Amino acid sequence: MNSWYTEVLRRGWDSNPRYRCRYTTFPGWPVQPLLHLSRDTRERENVQRTGWKCNECGRLIFGLFPLYSFRAFAQIAMLKRLLKRMLFFGTTRYCPVCRGRIRRFKPSGFILRQEARCAVCNSLERHRLAWIFFQDYTDLFNNLPKRMLHIAPEEEFSRLLKNVPGLQYVSADLADPRAMVKVDITSLSFPDGVFDVVYCSHVLEHVRDDRKAMRELQRVMKPSGWGVVLVPITSGETLENDPSVTSDEDRTRIYGQPDHVRLYGRDFSTRLQEEGFSVREVRCRDILSPELSERCGLADDELYFVTKE
Ligand SMILES: [Zn+2]
Repeated sequence: MNSWYTEVLRRGWDSNPRYRCRYTTFPGWPVQPLLHLSRDTRERENVQRTGWKCNECGRLIFGLFPLYSFRAFAQIAMLKRLLKRMLFFGTTRYCPVCRGRIRRFKPSGFILRQEARCAVCNSLERHRLAWIFFQDYTDLFNNLPKRMLHIAPEEEFSRLLKNVPGLQYVSADLADPRAMVKVDITSLSFPDGVFDVVYCSHVLEHVRDDRKAMRELQRVMKPSGWGVVLVPITSGETLENDPSVTSDEDRTRIYGQPDHVRLYGRDFSTRLQEEGFSVREVRCRDILSPELSERCGLADDELYFVTKE
């Protein structure tokens, strides 16, 4: 594994509060930045099977091993998925993400959408469309070495991508502790041109300076790299962030969700182009037949395939 990637993982690991040592935590302090369990230490001293070791106090933390081990969690998660596959088994719907054959998709969304969520893997329409696109229209699964940046990782998607052969996968988020690295999308802590693939789904509508975020995504992408960007699109033009709209009620009324700061319209691809991307808009109907679309629980969803050319 190359050193750059190890370094990214190490920094992400250290900044993740889930892996901080509870013994060297000063009680009453809101944040304990000096404490960490190092992934390097775990690997070097092979303590992952017996517990954790804190770099700060040198203490081994056994907890309730093996119940707390990742392996045990992975096995429990696998059993849960298997159980769900049996419970929701059917022949009318198919989820390309988990390859599940199910009876129907569940309703989901802030404004409820029917046939939205896969009962087995929790994928939504946008995940299923992106997965089909990754599989059929990109080189993501050709087993060659690649680096991928996934902004705001979804759990199941993240699990699958981590296991793609040849892929050095980095998930990043500002607040989600499950992400490998904590970053602000408008100021990414990565060098220029390091990622072959960038995937950013339903993030920009939450970001005040989305144009800066787009430029950052472009900056960290290799010249030969590509990316997939998704945002919720409504018809018409983009309704720009209005600083005078501050209450959750107003944002919900105007932008559709309390944590959204603008409403994107059909001119989203122009916006990406203005920030330097070459853009191809891929709509569901362009790549799937109506029958397959319905079977995969997709409506008129779209994604934006971006490159640097
Ligand atoms: Zn699924």
